[in-house]
Amino acid sequence: MGFVSRPSGVAQDDSGAQPKPTHLAPAPPNSDATASEIPRSDKYVDKLLRAAEPLPPISWSNWRKQIRWFNLSVIVITPLLALYGAATTNLDSRTLWFSVFYYVFNMIGITAGYHRLWSHRAYNASKPLEYFLAVAGGGSVQGAIWWWARGHRSHHRYTDTDLDPYNAERGFWWSHVVWMLVKPRIKPGPADISDLRKNAVVQWQYRHYFAIALIWGIIIPTVIPGYFWFDWRGGYFYAGFFRIVAVHHSTFAVNSLAHWLGESTFDDKHTPKDHLLTAFVTLGEGYHNFHHQFPMDYRNAVKWYQWDPTKWFIAVCNRLGLASHLRVFPEREIDKGRLTMQLKRFKAKQDMLEWPMDSNDLPVINWESFKEQSETRPLILVGGFIHDLSSFMDQHPGGRGLLSSNVGKDATTAFLGGVYEHSHAAHNLLAMMRVGVLFGGLEHVSEIVVPPGQRLRVVNYGVEI
Ligand SMILES: [Zn+2]
Ligand SMILES: [Zn+2]
Repeated sequence: MGFVSRPSGVAQDDSGAQPKPTHLAPAPPNSDATASEIPRSDKYVDKLLRAAEPLPPISWSNWRKQIRWFNLSVIVITPLLALYGAATTNLDSRTLWFSVFYYVFNMIGITAGYHRLWSHRAYNASKPLEYFLAVAGGGSVQGAIWWWARGHRSHHRYTDTDLDPYNAERGFWWSHVVWMLVKPRIKPGPADISDLRKNAVVQWQYRHYFAIALIWGIIIPTVIPGYFWFDWRGGYFYAGFFRIVAVHHSTFAVNSLAHWLGESTFDDKHTPKDHLLTAFVTLGEGYHNFHHQFPMDYRNAVKWYQWDPTKWFIAVCNRLGLASHLRVFPEREIDKGRLTMQLKRFKAKQDMLEWPMDSNDLPVINWESFKEQSETRPLILVGGFIHDLSSFMDQHPGGRGLLSSNVGKDATTAFLGGVYEHSHAAHNLLAMMRVGVLFGGLEHVSEIVVPPGQRLRVVNYGVEI
């Protein structure tokens, strides 16, 4: 029967004819399950986690076997060499500028190559551009494209779960660097990388990764300052090791800082955030909330003034004919996400305010009782609602006299323009003084029933977001 699952509710017909639709089974009685309330046991991530065989917790007796010693060496030795070099080597200004240039070159390899091209297929790259990005990214010494993109796809697919290799829920430092230094307790969740297996450049870079990392990570940045302005030592330490450390931690910041600092502009279900600071240190990858919502978009920043040099680089490559099929999500879908978050903030504010009592929660009083109670306190009828103005008599901008003359009476016409056409603020304030509903007196003055402050509301349909 194969392994392609059929959508439920569609009949199976072995004759080969078109499948006939059938009716969905009715929900069991008292079932409150909805599409958004799938039991946890049915969720794919939970199934994978149940089937996972986690490694034992790291302890004093097993930690030596649990460390990824090669990664640890690279992460620890490079900054030590960079610091030693900085303390013992003069910084030539030409070497400084070359190091900055080389940093940008490596970062472009990571952001435009490893990330947006190979992890997300956000655009198509010509072969020359692919090779350029493969060596630029290889020179940043953070693994081959294949390994990097595979982990990143798991990160997107299982964000904030134990199947996410750099799960931000485990803390800032875990997502920044610690995840690389120990063997994962649970293997990263499965991700489809069949396209990378077929990609000639990815495979070429994987086969020659260590040579590429050595040549483009250390040898070239040493030789260029050495050959052209005789600063071999400066090239080795500043353009080599210092720059590698900077590229490392800039990239790592996408997993840590971008999941920790900033705003949830498009969705707040998970940890990714948007922040200018993160964008500055990552060549534009700091609009990470956008990126997790619209991962195949070649942009991370959607506004022209937001800092996203990686996007500009891809756009220039497109102009030069080196990149094509730049993918963008429909603008309306981006607007929906942004609007939802804005409405959510409005709703939180709306929920914090005090609102008038609903007519269903107020006592129903007949005309005689209203008249009688008006003898002892200033009750006024407006739009079928009875209001107690005790606290407002001396605060009425039109004076106490106007109110006094309407106590015990229906002041609807006077309130709505017969004497003075009151402001929306006055409508809202009046509604806060409701104490009852006149028996049979509500329907015909709908203008009063819903005060202006309640005519536009943010409401949830179904499940909270
Ligand atoms: Zn992320
Ligand atoms: Zn990504």
